[in-house]
Amino acid sequence: MPAGLPEFRLGKVLATSFTGTLTERRGDPVERIPTPRRLLDWLAVYGLAVESCTSAQLERARELRESIHAAATAAARQEALPAATVQVINDCSVQGRAAAVLTPENTRRWLLGPASRVEDALSVIAADAISILAGERDGRLALCASPTCRAAFFDTSQSRTRRWCEMNTCGNRQKKARFTANQQKKLKSAK
Ligand SMILES: [Zn+2]
Repeated sequence: MPAGLPEFRLGKVLATSFTGTLTERRGDPVERIPTPRRLLDWLAVYGLAVESCTSAQLERARELRESIHAAATAAARQEALPAATVQVINDCSVQGRAAAVLTPENTRRWLLGPASRVEDALSVIAADAISILAGERDGRLALCASPTCRAAFFDTSQSRTRRWCEMNTCGNRQKKARFTANQQKKLKSAK
């Protein structure tokens, strides 16, 4: 990884991992795809490698990302999805070429066409978002409990009680903050 660039947060769900390329939206936002190159790197991690990316295509990717984030946030709050966000998601889905194929392990993989473009990869991400927003998949959209994050994530836990977008980051930080607050309370009451 090039020095000085923020690391990726890699989740299991494609669409919400993509929205996780911008973190701490309610705090000090961290842009994890700051350059076209980093978008290409991210896509490659998810098996959606394409050759090149222009700054306009990066802009389009971020527009899709924020649309998925806004739609997923509305869905988690059980509110109507903003029409403009649905439009962007649908347009991105339509404008790319990708095909689902079955692997020898009986899992689904997306194949991008020859000479594939960023748009083809974005169509796969859009289709993933659509399957979640349509309620086709086993899980529940929820919002991260961290006040500086509030990321929409897809909870596939048995109990559907996951509170944080990621245990390693938001979860641990919240726990630490609570621990410190409790320690301070104890110290005060001991005085
Ligand atoms: Zn979070």
